[in-house]
Amino acid sequence: MKQPYVWPESVRAAFCFTIDVDAESPQLWRKRKQPSLSMNELEQRFYGLREGIWHLLDLLARYEVSATCFVPIHEAVTRPWLLETLVEAGHEIGLHGVLHEIVSELTRDQFAEIVEKGLETVVRYTGKKPSGFRSPAWEMTPWAFDVLHEAGIAYDSSLSGNDHPYSLGDTTEIPIQWPLDDAVFFRYAGTGADRWPPCSTSDAAASWLDICESMERFGGSVVTTVHPWITGRSYRTGLAEALLKHARNTSGLWICTAGELAAYHASSQNHEVFMEELNPPFLSQGRPT
Ligand SMILES: [Zn+2]
Repeated sequence: MKQPYVWPESVRAAFCFTIDVDAESPQLWRKRKQPSLSMNELEQRFYGLREGIWHLLDLLARYEVSATCFVPIHEAVTRPWLLETLVEAGHEIGLHGVLHEIVSELTRDQFAEIVEKGLETVVRYTGKKPSGFRSPAWEMTPWAFDVLHEAGIAYDSSLSGNDHPYSLGDTTEIPIQWPLDDAVFFRYAGTGADRWPPCSTSDAAASWLDICESMERFGGSVVTTVHPWITGRSYRTGLAEALLKHARNTSGLWICTAGELAAYHASSQNHEVFMEELNPPFLSQGRPT
């Protein structure tokens, strides 16, 4: 029988509210070879750091929850107020690329430069070194884990190989859950690219609460992922509020940042029990360079 994950006393599950603070960088990366002046999606994305982030920060303050904010460096340096504002409000900063680069499309050296630039920039703006990374679009490679470890990054939050934190080689993985990402429900670029209507906020909230309750029953770590340009929309803030209310009203649920969760995992017996090989032998042929 599988050993249960051991939580601190009186805790039965964990809850992390994470924000991927992307604005325009994913689009700039995607269109880097064919720059475009099309404004539709860009303006949707600009909304996130004009308006959406303030809606989310207001909700987090009201429910007294510290979030983990994964911030692309492009967004940080083009809004010099951003990192300082997030840190002053009590939130954790994690790395999320420079221009939201897809890791599997980079060389190892390019990725190492991006991590180094990320660390240098966050330290310059906040005085504190981040301990975590989330890969854009949640794509990772074994060598990316090596680079993170060499750079002193303690945890990654991009993969979903367990219901609770686990160890992938030397790195703690804080697993994400795809159906707890708002982009899955609401991302709508328009202009004929997306032909389905975005999901209703109340349907998404019902689905998310159902997933939270199931994971709590199984003693997992719930990691919700929202974007300021999506859930930060005034007409969708009900989704974030439903989650925060649920977390506050659920006994035995540890509301923590991803960094706190990773630190707990690494210092607990779980680190030895839930240890997976980063690069199992059957994958070694064809390992990307
Ligand atoms: Zn992102």
